[in-house]
Amino acid sequence: MADKIDQLIKRLDDKTRKIVFDRDGYQCVLCGSTEALQWSHLISRTKTAVRWDPINSTCMCARCHYRHHKQGPEEYTAWFLQTYGEDAYLDLVRRSKQPIKRLTFVKQKVEEIL
Ligand SMILES: [Zn+2]
Repeated sequence: MADKIDQLIKRLDDKTRKIVFDRDGYQCVLCGSTEALQWSHLISRTKTAVRWDPINSTCMCARCHYRHHKQGPEEYTAWFLQTYGEDAYLDLVRRSKQPIKRLTFVKQKVEEIL
């Protein structure tokens, strides 16, 4: 059972990463680099409620992604606010805190995304 959920989560991750990289043109949204690209979340992907929400992640180079995790989210947050606005930010934060039933939510996202 756990294996099955893990497989679905991986497929949802792969699909969402592709959607986000396509949207961002395969370059880092912070510095424009096209090298060592990674999938970076503003609100941790451990928050399942917003893990596959494209607005919560970007294409980011390894260097900027590392800085985001080591120095804090200020730079990414500033980029988000400039790109999507404060209402979108507050809405994302609110959605990240919504209680969800993990299995039900994963199944719902499989229907929506895959
Ligand atoms: Zn970068």
